[in-house]
Amino acid sequence: MNCILKKDYDIVVVGGGVAGVAAAVTAARNGKKTLLFEKAAALGGLATIGLINWWEPLCNAEGKKLISGVSEEILRRTVKYCMHRIPECWQKEGVWEQDTDKRFVTHFSPTVMSLVLQEMLLEAGADIRYDALATYPDMDGKTVKGVSVETVGGTEYYSCRALIDASGTCLMFHRAGAPCRDGENFMSYYTHITTFAKGKEYNMLKIRGWHVSGSGMTGQGHPDGFPYYAGVTGDEVNNYLIKGQQMLLDEVKAKDPLEQEIVALPMMPQFRMIRHIVGGYELTMDDLYKPHEDSVGTCPYFGHKGYWFEIPYGTLYSPEYPNMFAAGRVISAHGDAWDAVRVIPVACQTAEVAARAAVLAIDKGIAARDVDVTELQGILRKNNFRIHFDDKL
Ligand SMILES: Cc1cc2nc3c(=O)[nH]c(=O)nc-3n(C[C@H](O)[C@H](O)[C@H](O)COP(=O)(O)OP(=O)(O)OC[C@H]3O[C@@H](n4cnc5c(N)ncnc54)[C@H](O)[C@@H]3O)c2cc1C
Repeated sequence: MNCILKKDYDIVVVGGGVAGVAAAVTAARNGKKTLLFEKAAALGGLATIGLINWWEPLCNAEGKKLISGVSEEILRRTVKYCMHRIPECWQKEGVWEQDTDKRFVTHFSPTVMSLVLQEMLLEAGADIRYDALATYPDMDGKTVKGVSVETVGGTEYYSCRALIDASGTCLMFHRAGAPCRDGENFMSYYTHITTFAKGKEYNMLKIRGWHVSGSGMTGQGHPDGFPYYAGVTGDEVNNYLIKGQQMLLDEVKAKDPLEQEIVALPMMPQFRMIRHIVGGYELTMDDLYKPHEDSVGTCPYFGHKGYWFEIPYGTLYSPEYPNMFAAGRVISAHGDAWDAVRVIPVACQTAEVAARAAVLAIDKGIAARDVDVTELQGILRKNNFRIHFDDKL
């Protein structure tokens, strides 16, 4: 390969969304030489440059906190510098159970979160490569040896002992030839809008909020005849973006410009479910309320009071691929269970686990599938994880 740079890392993370950052922070904090690639110019992925600035719950809406760790840390560090607040009953740290149905959710500033994510990576000692498009994993059979990356300067190559795919599109697993499954998406185009009191000056500016063109969560508003794209081809991505922007401009034209202004467009396509690995275990709705011996964390299903899953370790790797791990919305989960685990807090959580598993695999010289789950659970417990729903914390 004709490359302009070659460096060795323990762990390479592809994708600087919330999952990639949580993974890289964890890997670096645990002594691994870590490099994160992000093709955009800021961190956070859908949660920040994608304008999805609503942190779904860390709790089950019945007073039980299910998610903690780096996920909670990112949220708490971000809201410190935002106008948004965690609900009062969840503000105190270390509270696991209380008598409330109030959800541990909040809006946050996407801009501030991007900055905080970078700070966390730098503090942890991870290297960041912005404007760096990871193209292909360099495979020796099923083992990844490194990654090629396109930058403004040309093609770069980085070797690694483990790769974490946090691309949101499952790009590395797919290109490595691992079994994957594609999703389907409603046409949603979320932008940020500020509204004005009619006819008044800028001091009457209201808080910025979401403007949704096309469909929200349920499919209502999906344009007639428009395909339910996965978002896995260049054509799909382009048609989706063009349609979204056309719909938005039509809506803008129909409004009084003194009443509102669209202030930000999403800098990535807002497909919810693009592609996931078919891993050692595939989480489905049959797993709702189901304890798993090899659980590596619990999570709620946003919007569904009381729902919970235990996430089996097998969702984070593909059995034939010894040194690749999945993090965030590309883990092995299908149907509505995928919907439950793809959201921001859970994406961070699975990423932290993937990184801890990668560290263990490297230290012991073993494959992802051979990681001792009891040992992994012990490490996670020490780091504030609720492994089983019934754990007393
Ligand atoms: C319309 C919509 C509404 C949503 N609403 C909510 C909500 O209200 N609350 C909530 O919690 N969640 C919501 N979600 C889900 C949530 O935003 C995402 O699932 C979550 O942010 C995914 O994080 P991630 O890090 O796994 O992936 P992503 O955010 O997709 O991050 C992947 C990152 O990898 C980078 N990347 C990709 N390929 C490469 C490459 N080859 N080389 C280098 N970098 C690469 C991308 O630029 C990106 O930064 C919503 C999603 C959508 C689309």
